[in-house]
Amino acid sequence: MKKGLLIVISGASGTGKGTVCKELLSREPDIAFSVSATSRAPRDGEAEGREYYFRTRAAFEEMIAAGAFLEYADVYGNYYGTPLAPIQERRAAGEDILLEIDTQGALNVMERCPDGTFIFLLPPSFEELRRRITRRGTETEEELMCRLHAAQDEIRLGKKYRYAVVNDTVAAAVERIRTILAAERFRADMNPAQFERVS
Ligand code: 5GP
Repeated sequence: MKKGLLIVISGASGTGKGTVCKELLSREPDIAFSVSATSRAPRDGEAEGREYYFRTRAAFEEMIAAGAFLEYADVYGNYYGTPLAPIQERRAAGEDILLEIDTQGALNVMERCPDGTFIFLLPPSFEELRRRITRRGTETEEELMCRLHAAQDEIRLGKKYRYAVVNDTVAAAVERIRTILAAERFRADMNPAQFERVS
């Protein structure tokens, strides 16, 4: 049986990974999205089970104790975790699944699932990163510097990923990712049965 891809996409804040992942999923409707659990409060327009499973800290900690997560991390003071069971089930059924998680979580997944497809999104330039972070809202100069430094720390970790994709335009970034996925689907280790058929 062919094994589904475990696709992990990360990028520093301001890289536009949310938009890229949404567009990728609309172009590749057979890829399932891994809905994370979080202890943060829902934002306007977010629905339980669609963006996240919203849980109290206590409920989240029970899930940690029960071994329910492939990985979890404390991001900006809130828990975020990737439920393990849906990933195992989908991959075993030959279906691809996409995780949009932070670098800390992705490094943990690299340890546990080295056969994953790890893609890091880069902004086209430092000036563009600064522009995108500034455009977001009303941060003070100090908050902006703090976000920029955090983004640069994340970008340094990006070197540990197998693939790096520049997000200059969403359309171009999505096509680059689709090229990567097209090749990954031919990986010998994802479909050992095809060797047995001919030996
Ligand atoms: P937000 O609260 O803006 O939705 O997400 C904050 C950060 O948490 C983002 O960088 C997002 O990629 C990350 N994140 C979302 N889900 C998970 C998860 O399951 N595990 C980890 N490690 N990070 C996550």
